[in-house]
Amino acid sequence: MREDGALYWLMTDHLGSTAATVTETGMLASELRYKAFGETRYAAGEVASSFRYTGQREESDIGLYYYRARWYDPALGRFTSADSTVPQVNNPQSLNRYAYVINNPLRYIDPSGHTYLCDEECDKGNWSPSLKQYGITLSGGWKASDISVIQQEVAVIAAALAGICGETCFGMPDHQVFSQVFGSMTFTLLDNGATGTGCAAGGGFECDEGARGRLAEDTQRGLVTHELGHNFDHSIDAWGYGRTMLSQTTIVDANGNYVEGIPFGGGAWARTDAGYRSDWFPDQQHPRRLDNLGQTAGEGFADMFMNWVQNSFANDPAGQARHNWMTVHMAEWVPKAMQP
Ligand SMILES: [Zn+2]
Repeated sequence: MREDGALYWLMTDHLGSTAATVTETGMLASELRYKAFGETRYAAGEVASSFRYTGQREESDIGLYYYRARWYDPALGRFTSADSTVPQVNNPQSLNRYAYVINNPLRYIDPSGHTYLCDEECDKGNWSPSLKQYGITLSGGWKASDISVIQQEVAVIAAALAGICGETCFGMPDHQVFSQVFGSMTFTLLDNGATGTGCAAGGGFECDEGARGRLAEDTQRGLVTHELGHNFDHSIDAWGYGRTMLSQTTIVDANGNYVEGIPFGGGAWARTDAGYRSDWFPDQQHPRRLDNLGQTAGEGFADMFMNWVQNSFANDPAGQARHNWMTVHMAEWVPKAMQP
């Protein structure tokens, strides 16, 4: 595309979103990153185009995207008006006529405002090859539904890491940031006959056999991200960050109220439920009242990581305080974790 006489090339990501503009000589002129539902997460340089998320045009004055038939609001992840057609009568999700791409924005795009389309990868019905880009190898008898959940959570984590990384990650695809932060990992479904749905970090992600086909269940939602929160914690704990720093902290909200950590006036560090949407699954993957482990800063950090990645803290001052604590520190830790 041409602006003010200068020629720019628009580079797009796998959903066709404008990801970067490059000058004629190959210099990176600007870069854009998006949250899963299209809110702009990160912008650097002057983007000489209003065609952005999935290649659609953003009206930046009103924060809406024009999807030809309808306006789309990335902050809500919904269209602003009901669809005039019901795309697939046999799919209950398509009966929600405000929903965007049946609420699966990492997999589908919607070029017309009336439909949802697979990207090339999922058209082939084949998800695991793209996990290799993230440095992840699958082992054991995962079901396709598990792999789909893993794929989605990993992509959201990668977008969050890339979005907070700043200059260190300029020009890098999200999956490269992810694989550099976490290194190579194996995600294993154990062949152990266990009927429970237990999963653990273990240098990657590892689940009992009973978890097969169950990662999409409500209680398991966010579990992959919680466990990778433990892995992230382990990799930065050596520098005194993560759970170590959390265990020495008092988180206070904007009104001066105690949220979590060392109590006012001293005493033992403690987790609380303040700032989480609920005191149980899926908002906390290791609730503090579940067992003794639930009171540790390690589990506290993993749940903070999960809710920060998913932007799912409670919409109140305590939730904002947790979000801010994570954002400030992740902006320092992620670039550091990128160093070889
Ligand atoms: Zn945990």
